[in-house]
Amino acid sequence: MSDHYQVLARKYRPHTFGELVGQAHAKKTLINALDANSLHHAFLFTGTRGVGKTTIARIFAKSINCETGVSSIPCGTCATCIEIDKGQSIDLIEMDAATNRKIDDIRNVLENAQYMPTKNRYKIYIIDEVHQLTNESFNALLKTLEEPPEHVKFLLATTDPKKLPVTVLSRCLQFTLQQLTHEEILGQLKFIMDAEKLTYEEPALSQIAGFGNGSMRDALSLLDQSISYGKGTVTSKDIKAMLGLVHHDDIITLAKHLFNQDAKSVIEFIKDLSHRGENLTNALKDLSSLFHQISLAQIIKDEAGSDIQELADNISNQDLHIFYQMSINGTKDMALAPSEQIGFEMTLLRMLAFHSDIKSQIPAEKKTLKIKPNSPTSDYTNKTPAIEKEETSPREVEKLQPDSTSKISNQQEWEKLSQTLNFSGGAKMLVKNTLFSSLENNTLTLTLDEQFANLLSDHVQKNILESLRTQYPKLTLVIDLNTFTEQTLAQKETQAHNQYLATIQQEFLSDEIVQKLEKTFNAKVDINSIREITKH
Ligand SMILES: [Zn+2]
Repeated sequence: MSDHYQVLARKYRPHTFGELVGQAHAKKTLINALDANSLHHAFLFTGTRGVGKTTIARIFAKSINCETGVSSIPCGTCATCIEIDKGQSIDLIEMDAATNRKIDDIRNVLENAQYMPTKNRYKIYIIDEVHQLTNESFNALLKTLEEPPEHVKFLLATTDPKKLPVTVLSRCLQFTLQQLTHEEILGQLKFIMDAEKLTYEEPALSQIAGFGNGSMRDALSLLDQSISYGKGTVTSKDIKAMLGLVHHDDIITLAKHLFNQDAKSVIEFIKDLSHRGENLTNALKDLSSLFHQISLAQIIKDEAGSDIQELADNISNQDLHIFYQMSINGTKDMALAPSEQIGFEMTLLRMLAFHSDIKSQIPAEKKTLKIKPNSPTSDYTNKTPAIEKEETSPREVEKLQPDSTSKISNQQEWEKLSQTLNFSGGAKMLVKNTLFSSLENNTLTLTLDEQFANLLSDHVQKNILESLRTQYPKLTLVIDLNTFTEQTLAQKETQAHNQYLATIQQEFLSDEIVQKLEKTFNAKVDINSIREITKH
């Protein structure tokens, strides 16, 4: 295992055009030129890092210096092929202009160009990152390019051809290498893992390929690291840990808060991600990726009931595209933001501020997407009342508009207010079991039925206060425990429900058909089996 992981990229560096992944167009042109032995004296390979510029240059060097003759298929076994593969060929001069920019270095090297090769057909110069040369060095290079000796070939590589003088560009045969596709990189990763007889999860390799973002070199170096990290096994879990990727469920939860237009939860969720030390730039990329998956699920149905399908069913395609664009732009702006957290927050706030009719397109019973209680951030989710927001049936509550000027002076007003505030979970249960005592000097005193004392944690009390402060910012809260005879909201609701149930049971039993059935079958309807049918 230990000798595997450090050398993969080098071990699997392609030695022939046949082994080279991608770059079909450049390969074809080079192969044709080699097989026809019609060779230009200067080649320029351009493209982003890790797409194979210097790899192609080395294969090309073997092709023209192989002792068996110039061809697109160098033998790979002669002394010259072996020397080139090992980086020991005396007639192959490799320079990295990024580290070797001094005029003297380049001048020395180019002065030697006029001398015949020591043992091979051609003296070959590979100059990587050639755009980094100084003006003086370019002039020295140009001189040789203008009157090239027959025995010299220049293979230039750059990520930034725009920085090359036109005079140099015009003397080179240029090849623009493409970024490798996800499939090309993934295929090579699988090939290597299989060849090395190492175990892997395919999604993990796909993540590595994605990380490579078109660069085989970056993907291979991450593969090296992950093999080392996983002691010979590559798993999604390890990749996530290594790259600081945010848990998929967290991204889903965040998207649900967003689609619920729940700004408070969105911001607190981001804070929580940040406190946990998550990489928010990656999280934003994951969010873009999720929008893409949701868009796909709108066209090709995902497994029914999955989170992604649920999101797909509840948001318009148009909104998704706008959110996608915002998340991509947000990722671009991330480097300029004062901090990752601020950049992330601003992007999400922009999405929230974008007022499309998200809600109005959604069927009424689906207005709030439920958040999984067992999400890894459930510690945090308990803190935010809005998350577990439940649909309140119209029969139960008449909708009340918040009124900041309204004063609470009696139980009835307290009940109205507590219904307006949409408490959730423990807070909701507790509030329903309180009675209003007083509101004086911004101190609200409530009395809680003693049998619910165990519900009264600091946490729940804090939640109640936070909700109240959305309307009464200066409020303090006192909750006394006591036994009482007056009815709380909870008791009223229970009583109302029982009365309602008794009514429908009575209606059912007095129904003619039911009575006929009872008579015919000499049976009695079990009264407790008569229940209200809930809609969801
Ligand atoms: Zn050879």
